[in-house]
Amino acid sequence: MEIANPSNTKEILRKHNLNLKKSLGQNFLIDNNILDKIVETANLTENDTVIEIGPGIGSLTQKMAKVANKVIAVELDNRLIPVLNEIFEGYNNVEIVHGDALEVDFSQLVEGSFKIVANLPYYITTPIIMRLLEEGFNVEEIVVMVQKEVGERMVASPGGKDYGILSIGVQYHTKAEISFIVPPSVFIPQPKVESAVINLKVDKEAAVDLIDEDFFFKIVKSAFHQRRKTIRNSLTKAPYINLSRDQVDQALEEVGIDSRRRAEKLSIEQFAKLSNVLFGLYRSKE
Ligand code: SAM
Repeated sequence: MEIANPSNTKEILRKHNLNLKKSLGQNFLIDNNILDKIVETANLTENDTVIEIGPGIGSLTQKMAKVANKVIAVELDNRLIPVLNEIFEGYNNVEIVHGDALEVDFSQLVEGSFKIVANLPYYITTPIIMRLLEEGFNVEEIVVMVQKEVGERMVASPGGKDYGILSIGVQYHTKAEISFIVPPSVFIPQPKVESAVINLKVDKEAAVDLIDEDFFFKIVKSAFHQRRKTIRNSLTKAPYINLSRDQVDQALEEVGIDSRRRAEKLSIEQFAKLSNVLFGLYRSKE
């Protein structure tokens, strides 16, 4: 039985007396074509172990189980666990885990590398993606449905309003692209906004050379703290790091960045150079 078929989804929800919870981001996919496209985008083969975040009643899980070696589905809503266990009883490559994706230790669930494929609950999009990228899990690729506007921020290039901390955080770790846009009509209940499936290919060789990664992200956060300010003003006495005007001026001059520019015009490479020089100046005055 195809779970994603709208009448089957409704029947499963009715049978188990389930009302969907907005607070858990429960917008279930009821369109087989979109589910197939997500699975295609993730390029799953019998060598892949996939972790799915938020299987709901298993419509995407079911599709992935047909092509992947193993699907481990982490669901927070305890009401869905018996439903999922019943649906996937006859599958030997699906494991249902009851837990919070923001806390589960993914390295305990899988030996070796894995892919993440999910229709994410939107309220955890940024924290879960940054957790996956920053905590050193052995994740190769992330293919997830997000709000379109958040996807656009992740893939944005310097110069526009979408470009910011999230763009730099994601693009520092991955090659990021929007694979396709998804209308509200393919979910129940329908969300208010459009969605996008994004593909993040993790690149372990970071795209830029940094002396200190933590310092780099403090510089990026400071620079975007008040995005209308010039880079010179936003870095001086910034909330995340205490730099003097002289240090900022000296570093901007050394790396050849006009001090009147705004953070949103600087590329990741420029931020990297700037933070490396500032790190030296900052440490020498400590
Ligand atoms: N995969 C299903 C689909 O596409 O129809 C459901 C997707 S729905 C957008 C998000 C799912 O994530 C829900 O089942 C929700 O209960 C679950 N969820 C919400 N917060 C979670 C968390 N912190 N950890 C794991 N699952 C979570």
